[in-house]
Amino acid sequence: MKTFIHNALAAHVRFGSGTIATLPEVLEKLGCSRPFVLTTLRQGAALGALLGPLADLLVGTFDKAEMHTPVQVTRDALTEVDRASADCVIAIGGGSAVGLGKAIALRTGLRQIAVPTTYAGSEMTPVLGQTENGRKTTLSDPRVQPAAVIYDVDLTLSMPVATSAASGLNAMAHAVEGLYARDGNPLTRMMAEEAIRVLFAALPRIKTDPLDRDARAEALYGAWLAGMVLASSGMAIHHKLCHTLGGTFGLPHAETHSVVLPYALAYNAGAAPEAMTALRRAMGQADPVASLRTFSRDLGLPQSLRELGMPESGVDRAIELSLQSAYWNPRSLAEAPLRELLAYAWAGLPPEDLQ
Ligand code: NAD
Repeated sequence: MKTFIHNALAAHVRFGSGTIATLPEVLEKLGCSRPFVLTTLRQGAALGALLGPLADLLVGTFDKAEMHTPVQVTRDALTEVDRASADCVIAIGGGSAVGLGKAIALRTGLRQIAVPTTYAGSEMTPVLGQTENGRKTTLSDPRVQPAAVIYDVDLTLSMPVATSAASGLNAMAHAVEGLYARDGNPLTRMMAEEAIRVLFAALPRIKTDPLDRDARAEALYGAWLAGMVLASSGMAIHHKLCHTLGGTFGLPHAETHSVVLPYALAYNAGAAPEAMTALRRAMGQADPVASLRTFSRDLGLPQSLRELGMPESGVDRAIELSLQSAYWNPRSLAEAPLRELLAYAWAGLPPEDLQ
């Protein structure tokens, strides 16, 4: 008999092409009339076109959202949001814009609409990671969950291939860890397997043709599923390592996920046989560890933490921090094998040798 707990999310979600045009409708649904936009997208004209329908309502824009949600950037944005007397925030962009929206909602109680333009998945979660003094801390709080999410495939067409590939692997990482999560359930595992299946098929098509709207739609659908998995399942050593590396060494978020994923999976493979079976099914590959590595290489992504700018001397610090308030993991966490995992990932050695 199956026994499980599932926490469903209360977000209103719209998915399709041209859905950004329904922003005024969504604002009305939420009872908001003074929206403030948060973004990283600096293309003034493109952003202007995006927000055209809101021209009469918009009370301000802040375009300096940053990766890993630095607390100082949040303070700067808050000053402007307060000054504009906004009654909600709209985050348009990847996880950096969405993260800033969450950080503002946490501090003000303002409602949020997220319009994700990458595959990070943050828009579907009550999770916020913030960075201060070189440390990234993560909290989970229903107040940071966006009330509405508008997925518009058209907004993802401009995402460069390298960003698309890395971001897609970031989404796959949520799904992979969802497959072996201690608090996973039949629904989250179903969503995780489907997310991996569609992203594994769509990302190479996007590399071939970044304007392939069907492939873009599949990838965004996979990202949505993976975001829901992230929201409903506890993440393990892969996410702990990536948060530590990102916050401590300022490494790029999605690329760090793409490098670490095959190594983290190799670490856990022996302790997560059912997840490995689901991965083989989803990817149609006999060895998911080796295949993930080949997949990211063929997408043109960096293959080592060294390439991302991590100093080799940082391995010890990263292990120390990762073992502090460690997340649950299917295989017990021990210093020596973790050091080996990170040494391999730093140098880009074959992850399948770790299994
Ligand atoms: P990002 O938001 O920083 O975007 C990367 C770059 O791509 C930026 O320069 C951005 O302007 C550009 N960009 C985004 N969409 C584009 C588009 N459609 N066309 C052209 N350029 C585009 O990167 P990200 O990987 O999406 O997000 C990373 C951040 O999200 C990190 O801070 C991470 O911690 C956070 N995150 C949080 C969660 C969560 O649940 N809390 C989940 C995943 C990621």
